[in-house]
Amino acid sequence: MPQIDSLDRGGSQQRDSLSHQAIEDYVKTIYALAQEESPVSTSRVAAARLVKPASATSMLQRLARLGLVNYEKHYGATLTPAGDKLALEVIRHHRLLELYLMEALGFRWDEVHEQADVLEHVISEKLEERIAAALNYPIFDPHGDPIPALDGSMAVVDTTALSDVPAGGRARVSRIPDDSNSELLRYLAGLGLVPGAEVVVAEVAPFLGPLTIEVAGARQAIGRNLADLILVISIQ
Ligand SMILES: [Zn+2]
Repeated sequence: MPQIDSLDRGGSQQRDSLSHQAIEDYVKTIYALAQEESPVSTSRVAAARLVKPASATSMLQRLARLGLVNYEKHYGATLTPAGDKLALEVIRHHRLLELYLMEALGFRWDEVHEQADVLEHVISEKLEERIAAALNYPIFDPHGDPIPALDGSMAVVDTTALSDVPAGGRARVSRIPDDSNSELLRYLAGLGLVPGAEVVVAEVAPFLGPLTIEVAGARQAIGRNLADLILVISIQ
């Protein structure tokens, strides 16, 4: 995307303008928010980026001028095909980096998101390809999130929340969507609730009470809110 490369390498006259990283972070945010509801309102963008609505508005207007976003103040924002492509490229970097940091460098799964959030903006396409090759072209990151292929396509997995598995049901952990919550990830890893782990739901307390599960050879009680955050595939 030439206009972004030129911004990134821009001289002082462009320093007041948008940084490469800010563009990518906003595009990634809009992509994620659009999975829940599209178009994405200015206030949702502002809340997700932790900025005032006026800042989000001006950012969205600038992204629209770059051809990455369709934006009207009272309608909200959608990504253009170019914006979509950029978002998927950054997500690909992020998820490949998370897996690489874990597999090759020994980081824990609760540490990699923070590192990948920085590195995702700076790795070259050549380094990205080397990382993908070193990992044998993986389809999922350590949190079970699908890694977009070079053409933007991603594996689609039909998951349900662990909290929807009835008593007596068995399931395999597929995905922990909140990959930035390191406290949550440490807790889940301690229980053995990581992608690939098999879980038996032994009991479900009534009135939205806790679930008693068997995982990694142990019985554990986990709260309903926590079980909502764990996506699983039912096993017969
Ligand atoms: Zn992450």
